[in-house]
Amino acid sequence: MRYLVLTDIHANLEALEACLADAAARGYDRTLVLGDLVGYGADPNAVVARIRGIDPLAIVRGNHDKVACGMEEADGFNSVARNAVRWTFDVLTAEHRAWLADLPQGPHQVSELVEICHGSPFDEDAYVFDELDAARALKASSRPLCLFGHTHCPVAFELSSEGLGSFAPSDQSRVQLIDGSKHLVNPGSVGQPRDGDPRAAYAIVDEDARCVDMFRVKYAVGEAQAKVIKAGLPEVLVQRLALGR
Ligand code: ZN
Repeated sequence: MRYLVLTDIHANLEALEACLADAAARGYDRTLVLGDLVGYGADPNAVVARIRGIDPLAIVRGNHDKVACGMEEADGFNSVARNAVRWTFDVLTAEHRAWLADLPQGPHQVSELVEICHGSPFDEDAYVFDELDAARALKASSRPLCLFGHTHCPVAFELSSEGLGSFAPSDQSRVQLIDGSKHLVNPGSVGQPRDGDPRAAYAIVDEDARCVDMFRVKYAVGEAQAKVIKAGLPEVLVQRLALGR
């Protein structure tokens, strides 16, 4: 089984379409979505409709999904995120809000090999940035490969008998899964990268080859930016897409 892994799409339809086209050329069987479909970007309804149409094998909610559908307050959000999530709540159709509200909480065990979550397997809203965070997350994960998002930064941690190691992929890279090790991998954000590379990020997990391939894809950033401007969303969100920060 080959899984396409998408996370932190953030209502960026151009980035999502670019990833789907790139992944289709490489081939995959089913899709896993790790949350934050909406928030920040200008196409929340189109992105929700597109993901629903894909019929993911598994999906978990993100913190922006919870606030955008009205099930949680924007308490932990900064002013830009709060502004964007209010706008998102207003423009989402009632049907899409209800669908987002129904998304399950992670972690979710997809197979004997793979588990998915938004932030961390011990807390869907926790951020995994460094090896200390990763050690906690790996302890809580129940599969050899735990896929996560939330930070918008691609990274792979491996806990082996020799200890914990990590690497941050800069371009197309492969994480080979090692028997006896536990792996914690963030493919990076589809719609709002924050690692200094503005290209959309996604991954494909190949269960037979026991590897995770991580990809970066150029997309029509200008088109996504124009929509954000037209929607009247905060200007920092426009700049951010070009910078990948
Ligand atoms: Zn996010």
